[in-house]
Amino acid sequence: MIKAVLWDVDDTLFDHTTADRHGIIGHLTEQGLPADTAALTRWRALTEAAYARFETGELTFQEQRRERARAYLGPRTTDAEADAWFARYLTHFEAAWTAFPDAAPTLTTLTAHRHAVLSNSTTPLQHRKLTTLGLRHHFEFLACSDETGHAKPDPAAFHHAARTLGLPPHHIAYVGDRLDLDAQAATAAGLHGIWLNRTPTTTPPPDTHHITTLFTLPDLLKTL
Ligand SMILES: [Mg+2]
Repeated sequence: MIKAVLWDVDDTLFDHTTADRHGIIGHLTEQGLPADTAALTRWRALTEAAYARFETGELTFQEQRRERARAYLGPRTTDAEADAWFARYLTHFEAAWTAFPDAAPTLTTLTAHRHAVLSNSTTPLQHRKLTTLGLRHHFEFLACSDETGHAKPDPAAFHHAARTLGLPPHHIAYVGDRLDLDAQAATAAGLHGIWLNRTPTTTPPPDTHHITTLFTLPDLLKTL
């Protein structure tokens, strides 16, 4: 029986992809730079590469942001200049922050379960994000990799959150948008991994719990 649900945030509860697109297009446009599909593709590739280095602990959260800024400003850019560049992106990004429409209703419905967040990010950022989106009060705590020192898919990230909940892993479901990093990693750690596949283009592996909207999560939890 599932007693608690652990949640991913970005592209699970929060529409990160859309906010990020608005953020970089607004930021590049403001500088008079091309903000077309190629520019968006470049930004996403830079983000993926820099964020992966944050997740492995090679870069701090702030350093991965500076890496992305320096790809535009040049390698000799000072930290202050890189931070100022990134802050202007954040202005556009944060103006577009939106929760998915199924997030609040689902969390409100699941009153019989305890809820917490497990995210490869920083606690201050995810706290502010969830507060802005009106979702923070649903969660007992936020376990973010900058504080715990463990990033998904490391089983230690899931076990840290389970210990904080005071529950064995098999009483916890994990919901996230990434098949490997979220669902399969959670399952490998002994939790019930659930893949939120919002734009289904691939067939889920047969042994994977999956949903395409959070509205069907309550029914799935009853079967676990
Ligand atoms: Mg995610």
